[in-house]
Amino acid sequence: EAAAKSAAAVADTGAPTIFDKIIAKEIPSDIVYEDENVLAFREINPQAPVHVLVIPKLRDGLTMLGNAEPRHVDVLGQLLHASKIVAEKEGILDGFRVVINNGVEACQSVYHLHLHVLGGRQLKWPPG
Ligand code: ADP
Repeated sequence: EAAAKSAAAVADTGAPTIFDKIIAKEIPSDIVYEDENVLAFREINPQAPVHVLVIPKLRDGLTMLGNAEPRHVDVLGQLLHASKIVAEKEGILDGFRVVINNGVEACQSVYHLHLHVLGGRQLKWPPG
C-alpha cells in the first residue's frame, strides 16, 4: 500500500507517460479494442477478472479529466462508447463499472487520461 501511495503521489507534470509507448507499440500490451482515436488494453495489475484501460491515442492536454476543455468533448464521448464496446466484447454488458481516477487524491498514477473498465465479478459500492 505504501508503494501504491507513493506512486499515486506523483502529480500531473504533463511529461510523456508509459502510455505513449503503448500507443506507439514500443512496449507490448494486450489490446482489446482499437480504432483511429482510442486504444483499449488490459490492465497490468487487474482488480477484477475483466480490467481494461481505455485511452485517447492523442493526449492533447488530457492528462486528467480535470483538464478537459470543450475541444475534448468528441474524444470523451468516443472513450465512453469504446468502454461499452469493450464491455460487450468481454461479455460483461450486464454489469460493469467505468472509473476515472482524477489527481493525487484519487490515486491517479499515469497522467494520460484513461478509463478503467471493470467487471466479471460482483463489484462493491462505495469504492475505497
Ligand atoms: P492507479 O495507479 O491508482 O490505478 P491510475 O488511474 O492512474 O491509478 O491507473 C493507471 C493504471 O495503469 C494502473 O492501474 C497501472 O497498473 C496501469 N498500468 C501501468 N503501466 C501499465 C502497462 N504497461 N500496461 C497496462 N497497464 C499499466
